[in-house]
Amino acid sequence: MKDYITVIGGGLAGCEVAYQIAKQKIKVKLYEMKPQKYSPAHSNADLAEIVCSNSFKSNLLTNACGLLKEELRRLDSLLIRIADQTRVPAGQALAVDRDVFTQKVTKEIVENPYIEIIKEEVTDIKDMLKDGIVIIATGPLTSDGLANQIQELTGQDKLAFYDAAAPILQKDSIDFDIAFYGDRYSQEKKKEETEEQWKQRLAEQEREEQSYINLPMNQEEYENFWKALVEAEVVTLHDFEKKEIFEGCMPIEIMAKRGIDTLRFGPLKPVGFDDPRTARRPYAVVQLRQDDKQASLYNMVGFQTNLKYGEQKSVFSMIPGLQKAEFMKYGVMHRNTYINSSQLLDDTYRLKSIPNLYFAGQITGVEGYVESISSGLVAGLNASDDFRNDFKNELAVRNESELQMIGAEVRGKKTLLFGIYSNRSFSEVYFYSQY
Ligand SMILES: Cc1cc2nc3c(=O)[nH]c(=O)nc-3n(C[C@H](O)[C@H](O)[C@H](O)COP(=O)(O)OP(=O)(O)OC[C@H]3O[C@@H](n4cnc5c(N)ncnc54)[C@H](O)[C@@H]3O)c2cc1C
Repeated sequence: MKDYITVIGGGLAGCEVAYQIAKQKIKVKLYEMKPQKYSPAHSNADLAEIVCSNSFKSNLLTNACGLLKEELRRLDSLLIRIADQTRVPAGQALAVDRDVFTQKVTKEIVENPYIEIIKEEVTDIKDMLKDGIVIIATGPLTSDGLANQIQELTGQDKLAFYDAAAPILQKDSIDFDIAFYGDRYSQEKKKEETEEQWKQRLAEQEREEQSYINLPMNQEEYENFWKALVEAEVVTLHDFEKKEIFEGCMPIEIMAKRGIDTLRFGPLKPVGFDDPRTARRPYAVVQLRQDDKQASLYNMVGFQTNLKYGEQKSVFSMIPGLQKAEFMKYGVMHRNTYINSSQLLDDTYRLKSIPNLYFAGQITGVEGYVESISSGLVAGLNASDDFRNDFKNELAVRNESELQMIGAEVRGKKTLLFGIYSNRSFSEVYFYSQY
């Protein structure tokens, strides 16, 4: 038996896996293909790269993802601890400064005496599996060589769909004669307020909270923008349009093609805002969310896109306030690979047919940063117990309700119950998750 566990993929799940195993004084060999090779969405040489939005979603315990984060805190998740340390203002959400976050995670992993990092793309795991435990955490953009081998080992057709990331802008290139700060609903003028009182309140709010920038549009501006958007050229148009698109991360140009008002009832919804220039609700509002600690970068909320870079520049610059916008990063569309977990994995994230092979992270079918971290934590604890031939941690983890639901969701059981627990206490959630 090898005296270490092999982890493939130094993303969010892989780093959490490695930390949880190392914490139990078991050696880890962590393979990461960057900087030798980058996926289409990764660009930073650090580990645990945040590829798109900087938001870890709600921090409220009345929300399923908030509850999950709290459980991860109690179970000593390294990545959630660092997310808390690198927090940037984002209302009730936990959003992080992406660069500081990845730097801190990388430092922790690099300095951990139980973890050896090997910067190589893994394309063949057969030798690794001989007398050793292997955990695959290579994410939605698992490189082709390894994805083919996973397909071969699992005996199933590879599953994949397509989703997309939004552009990130430099704040100092935004025109603040048009743009205004504020959260939905708290920004709008209250009935009892005079215009003067409202503007004074906005000025006070702005001094404390700049997590969202809003760009109001009138009808003409919106319709011109919509027309340009639906006519703009996308990357490999014919190819992507035939593929399966993930509804939760729908490219904005595809959503726009569903109808002229679809965006106004979706990401460009104006409800809860009044334009400070007119004191009236705009026809549509584009929101930008703070992306780094210095508040120098903002991402375009809901603007995941597959438009060509030149088209992103010209079409998105039609949005009032963005005429001179500088793009730090353009949106991209990407493949999303996952395995059929409900059939292939057992309760511990282990492949039923090859019990020394585990999976963690988005490749198991969970979606999102926090969910990927949580599956890394569970798989890491279970693999450590497996290494010692003692499954005590599995039980400990299964007693933690929201994590169990994530596991249950992956295994295809009780899926419909997920999320209903958001306003229940830990013990109630646990109770319900047993039935
Ligand atoms: C473009 C894009 C936008 C996204 N936007 C969001 C978002 O806004 N919010 C959200 O919550 N989630 C988002 N996601 C999902 C997000 O990727 C996951 O939530 C999370 O990063 C998954 O963690 P992971 O560890 O499973 O995979 P990743 O974080 O992707 O880590 C996988 C790692 O494995 C490495 N790797 C891949 N193949 C190999 C190999 N053969 N050998 C060695 N190393 C390899 C990669 O380089 C990478 O570092 C997005 C994903 C993409 C691709």
